[in-house]
Amino acid sequence: MKAYLKVRRLAWLLPAAVSLFIMLPPDVAAKKENVPPEKKFVLDWLAQPQTVERFGRISDVVWAYAELGMQEFKSSKLLADTLEAEGFTLERGAAGMPTCFVASYGSGRPVIGLLGEFDALPMLSQKGRVPKKDPLLEGAPGHGCGHNTMCTAAAAAAIALKQALAKFGLPGTIKVFGSPAEETIASRPYMVRAGLFKDIDVVIDNHSSTGLSTGYGRDGNAVFSVIFTFRGKTAHSAGAPWMGRSALDAVEVTNVAANFLREHLPPAHRLHYIILEGGEAPNVVPDKASVWYYIRNTDEEVEAMYSRVLDCAKAGALATGTELVGVRVLSAVHQRHANKSLAEMIQKNIELVGMPAWTEEENAFAKALQKELGKEEKGMPVEPGKLKEPETVFIGGGSSDVGEVTLVAPTATLSFPGQVPGAIGHHWSTVAANFGSTAWKGLNTGAKIIAATALDLLTDPRQLKKVRDEFTAYSLLHPYKPFLPADAQPPIDLNQELMKKWRDLMRAFYLDRDIQ
Ligand SMILES: [Zn+2]
Repeated sequence: MKAYLKVRRLAWLLPAAVSLFIMLPPDVAAKKENVPPEKKFVLDWLAQPQTVERFGRISDVVWAYAELGMQEFKSSKLLADTLEAEGFTLERGAAGMPTCFVASYGSGRPVIGLLGEFDALPMLSQKGRVPKKDPLLEGAPGHGCGHNTMCTAAAAAAIALKQALAKFGLPGTIKVFGSPAEETIASRPYMVRAGLFKDIDVVIDNHSSTGLSTGYGRDGNAVFSVIFTFRGKTAHSAGAPWMGRSALDAVEVTNVAANFLREHLPPAHRLHYIILEGGEAPNVVPDKASVWYYIRNTDEEVEAMYSRVLDCAKAGALATGTELVGVRVLSAVHQRHANKSLAEMIQKNIELVGMPAWTEEENAFAKALQKELGKEEKGMPVEPGKLKEPETVFIGGGSSDVGEVTLVAPTATLSFPGQVPGAIGHHWSTVAANFGSTAWKGLNTGAKIIAATALDLLTDPRQLKKVRDEFTAYSLLHPYKPFLPADAQPPIDLNQELMKKWRDLMRAFYLDRDIQ
């Protein structure tokens, strides 16, 4: 494997695919020779330096926009415009969310869906490829989860596939789902409810990572994201506090009750909150306060846990003589249930495409960042991972609204490289690493594997049937029932105030002058 990787490193420098073939050891050459012409065509198209650069620049532009969930107007438009210019039909503002889009190309079955996210995270502003904390703009948002590379990888794969469909006259449709606000798990339940995935045969999801891998089975927690709002009565906090009823007290009693509840929750739970409003001055009893909870557990346990936390909020109101005037469920999503047959197909293409070859400079940057973080200085990743099996003991963890999609269409997630091993998620170190050449190569590798897997599904009905049959059998055992209350509306106001505060200041760092 080491020798093969060395050759791949050299191959990166060679412009002609012919020379690449001569350089490869016999087993890899044989693997490449067996690649069908449609797949070879998309891999070659994506491997061109100008293609790597074109989508790399788009990723860097989205990185610099660093727009928070539901406010990704510029990022979403750039991706949608790029796909439209390539002949995709665009549905913008899909499922009632201005930054959600569906871009379609081709006709007939199968219909292959690609997911793409583009939202950033608050407070993570950081200069790209600087291996120490150094914000572009102190306190502003940043791409601390690599979503800038993810939407771009999906678009690059879709555009490569479009060309293969046209060139080889293949039947089938490619749909890119521009998915807002993944960081607040806020869009997919609404996209599913709007029927966007109704006729989709298979969905290929992707996520930026420190390695190259995929997996199957149940993963992550289900979650309810909910805001409780209380109404009390104002009064002078010193002059006549007995006249007041503090809404902040209601929030605090709710939190105390929820914290006692933890002891009695099933072990996979996670429970956390922030206080959104808690008054404006200590000398005025606050008549309005609100608290935002994430309530996480398995699909089986999460509804009961939500209802117990709701009881804590009711208790908070009762104990303080205030009123619980708002229970706003922003989103509610299931755990992820990735399709094994699809993950196996992705894994084969991971092994075919392999890890990108990193330059000395890229490894030096990775080592400098690892040193700064006190991690092992091992540079960029070398080998792709093995197919990940589901955990035998589930201990809970984060959530993704991709979970919702996995229950309405067979779905698996490709994790592609670009981030530095040891960099911390949702942290400045990940923002630093998601920009520039490693991000470009990582997303390009991701696009190749997504496109290659989609082509397998488009050209081999047996593999498509295997994926679909597994999904049908799973769905019979786990019929989809949304957790989202019927009256919930997409939280399109999310992050509005924050982006209003930052957007003008961030404009100075935009990189879109030379794009398109
Ligand atoms: Zn993410």
